[in-house]
This record gives sequence, structure tokens and C-alpha cells, in this order.
Amino acid sequence: MRILFVVLLLLPCLPADLRSQSGARLPLIVLDAGHGGTDSGARNAEAGLTEKDAALSAAQALEKAFLQDRRLTVLLTRTGDIEMPLHARAEKANRARGQLLISIHTGFDTRADRAGARVYFLGPAHLPAAVSAKTVTGVKSPASLVPWAEAQVPFVNESNDLALLLQARLNTPFLSIHSVQSSPLLLLHFCAMPAVLVELGNLADPADLTRLTSEEGRSQWTPAVKSSVYEYLFGNTR
Ligand SMILES: [Zn+2]
Repeated sequence: MRILFVVLLLLPCLPADLRSQSGARLPLIVLDAGHGGTDSGARNAEAGLTEKDAALSAAQALEKAFLQDRRLTVLLTRTGDIEMPLHARAEKANRARGQLLISIHTGFDTRADRAGARVYFLGPAHLPAAVSAKTVTGVKSPASLVPWAEAQVPFVNESNDLALLLQARLNTPFLSIHSVQSSPLLLLHFCAMPAVLVELGNLADPADLTRLTSEEGRSQWTPAVKSSVYEYLFGNTR
């Protein structure tokens, strides 16, 4: 039953525009705007901005930026202000066979050292104990046979690589010096692809707020995400 459930989650469900004019399938990346509906996430009441709205705007800005280059195609887990359980987000990504997933969030913390962008992945320390050893020794199971909660296990190293690229490049526009962190994030457990969570700034920080809400601010960090993804997928940034 458990395996059948996972197999169903991995059944292809490809949007029609996934192929280039030559017929080759373009890589698909999944952008997940965190929260939604009654789950607003963090909130800066003074600025009138919630994390769910900031995350969706960021995901849509990134989608637009990626599609301009025509090197890959993009799937958003949500396109409106809807409530979406974590497993449904992963299911959508897994069914579409995404090449990678970036879950977009923001923070709200008034401490001075909490500004900037932070990137998280699911490291071996936070995997189920019974399976983490397999990852360390490089054994990869076919995704279709991996139980639901272990879907991320074969992709830990790739997720780490993607997280390192994103953190290094996002530190520049966000003027931060943060390092990648491993965190036991439930969504990442369910993703059968390289997957990371990016906290795109801190809603309590005025500079981060501007980076998230202004056209000029977004133009500073969208290239950092794009070049990280391109380097990860294609080995080059152009
Ligand atoms: Zn969040």
C-alpha cells in the first residue's frame, strides 16, 4: 500500500509546454511558494505584508525571469492564495518529475543578525536513521520504490550542492554571510528530486523588505537564483 501510494505520486503529469521546438523535453523546475490561505506564515503588520504573499510574488517573479531565457520550464505548486498541505506540494512536484524544487519562504525576526537570505536542505543528520547510512555510502534506490517519507534520501548530496550554490550567490544581493543549514523540514522529506528551502530575507528588516517588494530589489536577487539553477543543471550560468 505504501509503495503503491508512492508510485501513484510519481506518475507523470506533464504540462503541454514542456518541449522545445526541436521536440526535446526542457528541464522542469518546481517553485513552491510557502504557506497560503489561512496559513499566512510570518507577518510584518506595519508594512502590511505576509510571508504567503511575499513568497508567491517571489515565485512568480522567478518564473517570469526563468521563462524569458527559455532554457527550462517552471511549475508553481500554487498560483493563488490557497491552502496547500505539504504532501500535496510534493505530490505535484513528484508527479511532474521536476528536476529540482525550491521552496520559497521569508523570515520575520527583529534581531539584527537575522537579515539576509538563508538556504536549508535536508542533511543526513535529519534523515530517518535507518536510511541515512545508505546515502552516505552512495547507494541510490529507484525513486519508484522509495517509501513516501524517504523520497529525499537518494537526493541528499544533490540537494546539498544546490543549496551551496544558492547560498553563495544569494549572500551577495542580500548582503549576508550565512552558511547552508540542514533542517528537518517535512516538505523536503517528501520530494523525489533535489530540494531546498530558501528564506528570501527577513520581513522585519527594512532592506530585505525593499528587496522583496520593489522591482529594483527583485532585479538584484533573481539573477542569483537563476545562475545557481543554471550552474546546477547545465554546469554554466549562461
Ligand atoms: Zn515559512
